[in-house]
Amino acid sequence: MQEQKTVVVIGGGIVGLSCAFFARRAGYRVRVIDPDVQDRRASFGNAGILAVCETLPLATPALVRELPSLLLSPDSPLRLRWRYLPALLPWLVRFVRASAPSASLRSTLALNSILTTALDAHLELATACSATQLLVPTGWIKAYQSEQSYLSQSAERSTLADWGVAMRPLGRAELDALAPGFHGVFAKATLFSDCQQVKNPGQYVRRIAQGCAEQGVEFIQDTVRNFRFSGNRVTGAQMTDRAIDGDVFVIACGAWSKRLAAEIGEKVPLDTERGYHVMLDASDRTLLQSPLFWHEKSVVFSQLDSGLRMTSSVEFAGLNAPPRYRSIDRTLAAAKRLVPTLAGLPVESRWLGFRPSMPDSIPVIGRSTRQSNCFLAFGHGHLGLTLGPQTGRLIAKAIQGAQTEIDLAPFSPSRFSMRRSNDAAAA
Ligand SMILES: Cc1cc2nc3c(=O)[nH]c(=O)nc-3n(C[C@H](O)[C@H](O)[C@H](O)COP(=O)(O)OP(=O)(O)OC[C@H]3O[C@@H](n4cnc5c(N)ncnc54)[C@H](O)[C@@H]3O)c2cc1C
Repeated sequence: MQEQKTVVVIGGGIVGLSCAFFARRAGYRVRVIDPDVQDRRASFGNAGILAVCETLPLATPALVRELPSLLLSPDSPLRLRWRYLPALLPWLVRFVRASAPSASLRSTLALNSILTTALDAHLELATACSATQLLVPTGWIKAYQSEQSYLSQSAERSTLADWGVAMRPLGRAELDALAPGFHGVFAKATLFSDCQQVKNPGQYVRRIAQGCAEQGVEFIQDTVRNFRFSGNRVTGAQMTDRAIDGDVFVIACGAWSKRLAAEIGEKVPLDTERGYHVMLDASDRTLLQSPLFWHEKSVVFSQLDSGLRMTSSVEFAGLNAPPRYRSIDRTLAAAKRLVPTLAGLPVESRWLGFRPSMPDSIPVIGRSTRQSNCFLAFGHGHLGLTLGPQTGRLIAKAIQGAQTEIDLAPFSPSRFSMRRSNDAAAA
């Protein structure tokens, strides 16, 4: 055990906790700093899908073509608060660039490399933290009300098949068995059979925190404001009214990571794709055996052990704008009109969360190029629950200076500036 070295992990969501767990397992003394407002973190309120099938980046030429109309339509799954547009513009420009075929292939290769063993990392972490009973091999359904919208996704399915993603169409009887509460709603559906579900993401994260504590990880309930430096090393983290020293620092603050990354000289185009959920009281009945993406409404329904959760798609409005539940309420009302079993379920709670999103859909994982004892682990967008443990495993290896089984170059924090200088050199 290398007790002498202290790793300070900033952020206690699924990504930070995973980094803490694997660093501790590698023998370091580990401290996690987080204000510990549980329902503020994205890791609390997500849909709970370990979506290992999602090997394609979000930016595609088709989506970019549709972007203006999507942003203008009031019923769109993509919403923008117009006052936020100037702040978002650089991210949007990079998002459009990321849809180019060469960039998209780069992102797909990177996602594919990291998703392939993501479930193994979950199992390793969940086993050590007594959380395996929350992991269920449910698969994930993508369902379509019309044949036409099913056919509109043929090209995507065929690309996913080329990348080796396991999927198959569901017959009517099978769909009814997996989604009994949605009987007769969908004309077509595909099952992504390798995906799993976390039955209660909030509890899963709490179990992992508890498991970390049992292994000797220390928790400090505070917020990191900035750093202290010596040469090209960070020597301490300044919190609200005290500081702590450390040998290694990991920035894993999800959507809040950009400012701290800038403090150490890493300029990263991180923004947030805000997402909402509504919890419906369905604890006494089974409406779904497997989480389900409803294509036309662009929402996910997941039956958790605490009820039925409906999660929405994306809102661009930054970290500080207050929630607006109007849109998800409207979608829920429309879904209730089509699904009689939903109609009688009371709404228990609503939630707004912050996906930490990079424009190329690739998280930032690896050593800082500016401060040699700092590591970055954020920007997992729609896949942070899926990729948290895998990220923790990779960060622990990188801290040790060991060879990682996955090439971390595509995840480098400096990939955007490197591309700019490569482009300039080529010009
Ligand atoms: C509606 C919705 C549905 C989703 N569904 C899925 C899904 O089904 N599957 C999936 O894989 N992903 C899903 N995601 C994405 C996933 O939830 C996130 O990518 C993931 O939770 C990010 O984890 P994180 O640890 O990076 O960030 P978070 O969970 O947000 O944790 C960041 C932590 O950093 C702390 N922090 C911030 N600033 C500081 C500071 N200065 N000092 C100390 N601590 C700080 C915060 O308090 C917080 O606890 C979904 C997200 C949303 C919003």
